[in-house]
Amino acid sequence: MSFVGVNIGALTVKVVTLRGDARSARVVAHQGRPLEVLSGLIAEPEFADAGYFGVSGHLGHIPEVAAIQRALRETDGGFDAVVSLGGESFLVYILADGKIAHVLSHNKCAAGSGEFFVQQIGRMGLDVEEAIRRSFNGHVVPLASRCSVHCKSDITHKLNRKEASPDDILRTLHDSMANKVIALLEKAQRELRRVLLIGGVTRNAAMLAAFREKLPATGFVTLPESPWFEAWGCALLTRDEPRHPSPKISRQPGLGSLPPLHRYAGRVQVIAAPQRQAPADGPLVLGVDAGSTTTKAILLDPETQGVVASHYRHTRGDPVAATRECLRALVAQVGNRPVGLTGTTGSARELLGAYFGTAHVYNEISAQAAGATHFDADVDTIFEIGGQDSKFILLRNGVPVDYAMNNACSAGTGSFLEESAQGDLGLTVSDIADVALAATSPVHVKATCAAFINSDIRLAQQQGHSRDDIVAGLVYAIAGNYLTRVKGPRALGKKVFLQGGVALNRAVGHAFAHSVDRPVVIPPSPELLGALGVGLLALERAGALGASTDLLSLAAPEMKLVGQFTCRACKLFCSVDRFEVAGRRFPFGGRCSLYENVWKRKSRAAAAPDLVEQRADLVFGDTRRFLSPPPRREPAKRSRRQRVEQALEDARSCSWRSPSDAPTAMRPPARPASVFRGR
Ligand code: SF4
Repeated sequence: MSFVGVNIGALTVKVVTLRGDARSARVVAHQGRPLEVLSGLIAEPEFADAGYFGVSGHLGHIPEVAAIQRALRETDGGFDAVVSLGGESFLVYILADGKIAHVLSHNKCAAGSGEFFVQQIGRMGLDVEEAIRRSFNGHVVPLASRCSVHCKSDITHKLNRKEASPDDILRTLHDSMANKVIALLEKAQRELRRVLLIGGVTRNAAMLAAFREKLPATGFVTLPESPWFEAWGCALLTRDEPRHPSPKISRQPGLGSLPPLHRYAGRVQVIAAPQRQAPADGPLVLGVDAGSTTTKAILLDPETQGVVASHYRHTRGDPVAATRECLRALVAQVGNRPVGLTGTTGSARELLGAYFGTAHVYNEISAQAAGATHFDADVDTIFEIGGQDSKFILLRNGVPVDYAMNNACSAGTGSFLEESAQGDLGLTVSDIADVALAATSPVHVKATCAAFINSDIRLAQQQGHSRDDIVAGLVYAIAGNYLTRVKGPRALGKKVFLQGGVALNRAVGHAFAHSVDRPVVIPPSPELLGALGVGLLALERAGALGASTDLLSLAAPEMKLVGQFTCRACKLFCSVDRFEVAGRRFPFGGRCSLYENVWKRKSRAAAAPDLVEQRADLVFGDTRRFLSPPPRREPAKRSRRQRVEQALEDARSCSWRSPSDAPTAMRPPARPASVFRGR
């Protein structure tokens, strides 16, 4: 007869069998179906002689403290603390005389957890082994790591703006996970000389290296039993006191339900896509929307404004590479056509504007509004939901007059739905709509934050809700979170457009139609409206096409980082990158738009109009002659432009990466302490 210990974790089921002096262990990922995985496992012949079971974890009857305490008795002891590194949370058990005296945990947040790490590397297209290996090549970079939502956005923007490499991000994610544990250890307020690490994350060599680097005086120990330590404790307790001949699984209070999504089909209006236009002989207009999750490119006929070709692909942290691949995909559709005008939008719009050398760089609000009004001039409300960002735009007479963005939370965005459905439910994005629309009793997911929603999914699974009902609940949650956190108290207009990549999911339109209690319009190719809008804006603002370049020539050049310099034009001393594309060098970065304006000025065929001057003329006209003349100013020692030119000149011979690396003579002066006084 054997004794079986089971630990049901957030991501895996761990099973340990004790048979006489022999011991065996299994760790199986459950993809959100822990009970199915457990029943499948114990039905295997290996468990035919199982006499008694003990279960800990989400649904178990054995407290984790008891299981860990029992397993500790089998070790050689001498530990000051045990750190449990699980997929969903990290816990520290402080020991006194070999017994657990105190448990330390964080407030409930997914940031810095093993699961969050797995989600992020999935977005970079890496598996766990490769991510761990590559993290040893990276450097720690500043990252907003206190909240998983901020962290995810920060990673995306740093990769898109080339402020960090994927290896740097991987190293930083490990660093922030290690920091989270070390913050817990510091809460113990006592010297911890020997710490036992347990849980699935102990198989991550980069994490262990980070612990040892950060606390070199502490001995971090892993045992062969570490990955399934708690299940081992359950098996030992079961052998000590056999009670349950089958796994004892407890039940928890139920979650509510919502109406089926298919009930709102009549309130969703889908505008049929116009016929794709044959390419004209002359030059075309290129619009590129490089977002945090996906990059979209579109080719327009400048005469008819009809779409000639389009492509949509994942950005995978490299917007330039994604754009070049989009351009090659456009060539595959319509041949190597000439392009006479290019516009860019999206979170990497500035970088791509510099890559193409175009001044037609417009923010997403303007681009999305232009795309929507192209199909219906009466639209007055836009819900735009992308992979990482969501926007709410109010229009009056086709002009954006108010907007809001998800600056603090990704709960109402596509990546939340995608990651939850993929990570916890094993569904691909393309399956979500059909599954959600088939649901008969969608689960009312309570959490309004992406950091907590995974726990709700797991609770629903453990309570026996079907996968379809949980997915439909997540779709409702996206609409609810968007309306609460992005739209907020702003009023809705009469005609609501739902656009962005998430609008491709038909079920999301149904959830919005339920929540706003009015029709919701899905425009043609809703994921491409930013790219379409920026192409139209470029055409409107430029008035005419410029010199043309063919698509393959646009896609050919590599974008290389050829140096960095410190801007000395003001006292912030920003580090600015110098890139090279097709023999054209340009500065990129800094906290203000100084360098952006340098390359935009170069790419303009004609000087930009002085809008301030024009406004003054319109408002004051000739009356300005009655105003007092401006006070005479002493001439500046050096103009701002001279300071910038000098900074650029200095940078030509520099290869240092930060002010502190510079030769002493070139270092910026130390910031006076009085700058911060009084703040
Ligand atoms: S880039 Fe802008 S903010 Fe930064 S130092 Fe130069 S002028 Fe100042």
